[in-house]
Amino acid sequence: MKAKIIDGKAIALKLRGEIKAQAEDFFIKNKRKPGLAVVLVGDDAASAVYVKNKISGCEECSITSFAHFLPSATTKKELTKLIVSLNNDKTVDGILVQLPLPKQLDANKMLGLIAHEKDVDGFSVHSAGNLMLGNDTLVACTPAGCIELIKSTGIEIAGKHAVVVGRSNIVGKPVAMLLLAQNATVTVCHSKTADLAYITKQADILVAAVGIKEFIKGNMIKKGAVVIDVGINRYDGKLYGDVEFDACEKAASHITPVPGGVGPMTITMLLQNTLKAANGK
Ligand code: NDP
Repeated sequence: MKAKIIDGKAIALKLRGEIKAQAEDFFIKNKRKPGLAVVLVGDDAASAVYVKNKISGCEECSITSFAHFLPSATTKKELTKLIVSLNNDKTVDGILVQLPLPKQLDANKMLGLIAHEKDVDGFSVHSAGNLMLGNDTLVACTPAGCIELIKSTGIEIAGKHAVVVGRSNIVGKPVAMLLLAQNATVTVCHSKTADLAYITKQADILVAAVGIKEFIKGNMIKKGAVVIDVGINRYDGKLYGDVEFDACEKAASHITPVPGGVGPMTITMLLQNTLKAANGK
């Protein structure tokens, strides 16, 4: 039997409708729209596309975007000044500094300057620490999107064995923390993990965030597993996930496609975080 496809595009669209309605309510109560400041330093082409998509996501959901495009040579002092002014701007609820930053700017230090309640990317040490402690916080967008997708299957997370392949600070580790918060038993794997397939085959929920095209093979999946593929690998002009889709969909009960799975959820979670920040949650 083939797995059910987890349609990230449709789930994101539905959530965006809800976010828009809530943003309109916010406007009625506050006489202004929720606001997201997006800061892009330099001229990295991929970052420019991400920023453009974030701005158009805001438009779609009745959120005001404030775009700040700074030159590659921007100094620490200049970026600090901008972040401080956005922290103090009452019309700005969320601040996103697009990564990567040019090498003269230390990303951790710069992100650390963002007021905690405006850290809608959830990447600062403060937000990551709160997630680790199980405190209420703004959570990194791609990991939050993974949890929404798992929940959309209706399968209970509590008590399940969740295996996360990848331990990056932006995906693997926060996904693992979120699954733990949902009372899954969590195993985190990485490049030094011995006998990876032995572990992945025990996963009721498998999250792949490796960055290697079709790395997870069909024989690495437990029958009936929920498989979330975070990977985005461009190869010969085509997008591939970290999961060998055709083989894995035969074993899994639910699986995300690439494209159309986790990808559409990331910006949607950013918009949701902006709304949460605007409402002081
Ligand atoms: P990183 O390169 O930061 O991390 C990759 C992780 O995979 C590392 O922890 C690494 O282990 C692990 N890994 C590498 N090789 C192996 C191996 N042979 N066996 C087991 N583990 C291995 O990547 P990201 O977390 O940033 O991204 C992962 C993927 O997700 C990428 O394809 C990226 O494009 C995609 N992505 C998608 C997003 C979306 O919106 N859909 C958002 C963000 C990322 P180690 O720590 O030991 O090096």
